[in-house]
Amino acid sequence: LNATAVDTLAELLTALELQAATPLSNWIDGELVAGQGELIELIDPVTGLPLIEYRDAGGALVAAAVEAATRAQQEWMALTASERGRRMTAAAWALRGHEETLAQLESVVAGKPIRDCRGEVAKVREMFEYYAGWCDKQHGEVIPVPTSHLNYVRHVPYGVVGQITPWNAPMFTCGWQLAPAIAAGNGVVLKPSEMTPFSSVVIAMLLERSGLPRGLINIVNGVGQTTGAALTGDAGISKLVFVGSPESGRRIAQAGAERLVPSVLELGGKSANIVFSDARLDDAVAGAQAAIFAAAGQSCVAGSRLLVQREVLDMVCERLARAAAEIAIGLPSEETTQMGPVQNARQYLHITSMIEAAEQQGARVLCGGKRPESLPAEAQGYYLAPTVLVDVTEDMAIAQQEVFGPVVVVMPFDSEEGAVRLANATRFGLAGAVWTQDPARAHRVAARLRAGTVWINSYKAINVMSPFGGFGDSGFGRSSGVEGLKEYTVAQSVWVETATSASVAMGYGNGV
Ligand code: NAD
Repeated sequence: LNATAVDTLAELLTALELQAATPLSNWIDGELVAGQGELIELIDPVTGLPLIEYRDAGGALVAAAVEAATRAQQEWMALTASERGRRMTAAAWALRGHEETLAQLESVVAGKPIRDCRGEVAKVREMFEYYAGWCDKQHGEVIPVPTSHLNYVRHVPYGVVGQITPWNAPMFTCGWQLAPAIAAGNGVVLKPSEMTPFSSVVIAMLLERSGLPRGLINIVNGVGQTTGAALTGDAGISKLVFVGSPESGRRIAQAGAERLVPSVLELGGKSANIVFSDARLDDAVAGAQAAIFAAAGQSCVAGSRLLVQREVLDMVCERLARAAAEIAIGLPSEETTQMGPVQNARQYLHITSMIEAAEQQGARVLCGGKRPESLPAEAQGYYLAPTVLVDVTEDMAIAQQEVFGPVVVVMPFDSEEGAVRLANATRFGLAGAVWTQDPARAHRVAARLRAGTVWINSYKAINVMSPFGGFGDSGFGRSSGVEGLKEYTVAQSVWVETATSASVAMGYGNGV
């Protein structure tokens, strides 16, 4: 196994005050537990060489995790709401002391630039700070039914929720779903992607060490078909929250439907970044560059379709190609690196074969499309230069399907009407942006985009306070903000007789 990575992981274990041989594979009922299934080998995205291996958790450990969460959830709800808030605040503080360790861990395993990993872990802490404040501010309502009754509504937790997350933002998606779930009073069993298993385990461990009930948060690691399927099929899970691809999302929703368990699906995107000719073009090009090439395009909201008004098409393409060439591509551990490798071989193959197919259909590679020219010697892994494709038509697969890599297609439009039509012409509906100096047009177009998030003269601004989610193949349900919290509770209506004599009797006659 990769000696540098093993050393780095050993250093991280020391920083966490753990023994060198401690398995980081699962966190169940307050313990680090090794998996019991098949060996899973992680490959270093930078070198393409084996990094480390661990065992798939398997069904028995998932069952143990659900059992622990079921017990701990009762303990959690037995505390006062204010106490739950205090403990979540303490949990956020506990993360604060280990942010650099977590960032380093994720950078090694995910191959993500260290600067991006630091940003990601800071977001996790913010999520706990934000939702901690909600613990004692969730309350029910009194409904003005006829005076013979008092009717009030309580918002109660589901019990134990199952969460499944992807490899592209493992820490972000972990905190994003853990924080509202426990703020609403649930216990959790979360399965991260098999490609990026460890950071969620460390986050859960740090959170629990700070004073959350043992077993409230459990992390199980393994592949979708084994550990994932055991989680979605477990009778103790009352709600499923999934972040990942539409293909897997469909399977998760089907597994939930079998047991009549509801789901939230946060899926992929093919987001339109619309540049009108009256936009401030320097800003629009900088925005387009960040929208697609940050995180090497492995972002659900990546601006993967750049729609440009025809008058400025050539100028925008030329400037974007220049901006792409200026991106610092290199080792994720270097402070100056802006773009690292694609995370895994399967994804690399998917991206390069989509570029090839697009070329065969007539698209032209304006820049990129191959390995970057100058890379450090050890960077033999999954590096791909920022790629801009032109002469792309709407019917091509590359204009319709998610590439999930540093690849943008550029397509022209002539009118506002044409821009809106083109933007909405995919099955996805996650995000989009409008670049123009005409405020009326900006709001008009934003209102017509079938996208859960729209930016005006900006891209990728997100905050835990603001709701996030998709339309169509981008999924359903919402995360973040109060909407994200509400996904984790269900309304219970309580009726109290207040008349002097009971109104319930045979023939009461309300038709139900
Ligand atoms: P993926 O669908 O391959 O895997 C996601 C998770 O699902 C993994 O943990 C995987 O093990 C698990 N899984 C797969 N099949 C399963 C099954 N049958 N039962 C249970 N679990 C199963 O996605 P990925 O390649 O890891 O991530 C990339 C995708 O995630 C992209 O489509 C991206 O757009 C999307 N994503 C969406 C958001 C969002 O908020 N909308 C955020 C990040 C990533």
